Amino acid sequence: MARHIDPKCKLCRREGVKLYLKGIRCETPKCSVAKRKNVPGQLKRRGRKLSDYGIHFREKQKLKRFYGVFERQFRHCFAKAERKKGNTGENLLILLERRLDNVLFHLGYGFSRSHARQVINHGHITVNNRKVDIASYLIKSGDLIKPINKEDSVKMIKLNVDSDNNRDLPSWLELGDDGLEGRVLHLPTRDEISINIQEQLVVELCSK
Ligand code: SF4
Repeated sequence: MARHIDPKCKLCRREGVKLYLKGIRCETPKCSVAKRKNVPGQLKRRGRKLSDYGIHFREKQKLKRFYGVFERQFRHCFAKAERKKGNTGENLLILLERRLDNVLFHLGYGFSRSHARQVINHGHITVNNRKVDIASYLIKSGDLIKPINKEDSVKMIKLNVDSDNNRDLPSWLELGDDGLEGRVLHLPTRDEISINIQEQLVVELCSK
């Protein structure tokens, strides 16, 4: 399975925004975006104006890096968003937001989306009481997400949820009192997706 090997903070600095790739550290003063304003590896080019293509391209990279998806998965998702009725940009964001790794991150089962992906790949998660080990699995309204019925899995998920319990839960998700049962109340709408992105720029680039 392909994965990013670049230092995660470099990706944030390249995009100039927090992408929340390192879990709890992202909320602390140690976050590199606040400390170092320069673009990594391009000191001489600092301040250079981006071309129109560059602006569109950076927006797409920001979106891919935020959700941790690679070009092929992204193109697949975009094609699906285009086929759906309505605004393609909103459809795209909603599809990305519905990914199981993203949902697990919101529930606190993983410290970051990549950590949540690892939790899924290692077979710790069930959706509607069936084991799911595919990070790109798309959740549906009413789905019930729980750790698999094994002592180690339950313990590990409980520990993750308890150690990061300050996270804001989106209004379309619900977490049981014991922190071990996540419920999808309804599918997210654009207003409930907190990413600061101009999805129209991404659509314009990908539709060319
Ligand atoms: Fe990005 Fe988190 Fe690193 Fe900050 S600490 S630069 S948000 S990965």
